[in-house]
Amino acid sequence: MTSAKHWTIDHIGIAVENLDQAISFYEKKLGAKLCLRETIEASGVDLAFIDTGESKVELLAPTSSESKLAKFLASRGPGIHHICYEVQDIRAELVRLQSEGCELIDSVPRPGAAHSEIAFVTPASFMGVLTELVQHPKRS
Ligand code: ZN
Repeated sequence: MTSAKHWTIDHIGIAVENLDQAISFYEKKLGAKLCLRETIEASGVDLAFIDTGESKVELLAPTSSESKLAKFLASRGPGIHHICYEVQDIRAELVRLQSEGCELIDSVPRPGAAHSEIAFVTPASFMGVLTELVQHPKRS
């Protein structure tokens, strides 16, 4: 549960070359389980979430050499890619960030994993960290 105003860490995104290897590595090292695996074609990523209880680790592998993530891996190698915060109203938060001078990669949310909506903020306007916002579908 998240209060209306403050952001909570939803997951930490880690860029990997080989998703299967990364999943078994993280499951073994953390003693945690894979909770979701999905391909987001529009973003060119295969992703897997490892459930760590309070939050998650998101392992990201590119689906093609053309994806942005492939370029990230080519220039930086595997490692931390982004931090994702859960928000209650992603559209309102994007408007607020923009009004505060943040440069948005997505001014309108795009589809994320498990029917969520996500948006990214540039590292340049977030203290050097690629920052993702996620709004999960409301549970009834
Ligand atoms: Zn993410």
